[in-house]
Amino acid sequence: MDRRGAMRCPSCNEVATLLATRPFCSERCRSVDLSKWLGGTYRMAGDPVDPAAQLARETFPELAATGDRAEESTCD
Ligand SMILES: [Zn+2]
Repeated sequence: MDRRGAMRCPSCNEVATLLATRPFCSERCRSVDLSKWLGGTYRMAGDPVDPAAQLARETFPELAATGDRAEESTCD
């Protein structure tokens, strides 16, 4: 841990001194990093699960149960 809580800019690795743009060293680096996220440069590795599909399965189990368990009642 650096003294006085000095932070390294995640984008360019410079010391980030501006409170307003922390943890980035500048507004520019913050924008660069944000655009990386929005552009899909960053990906969660090893997690192919689609959160939307997972939510749909939990919200509408009857729709997801059209496979081998279609006849099985889940109600009591
Ligand atoms: Zn930077």
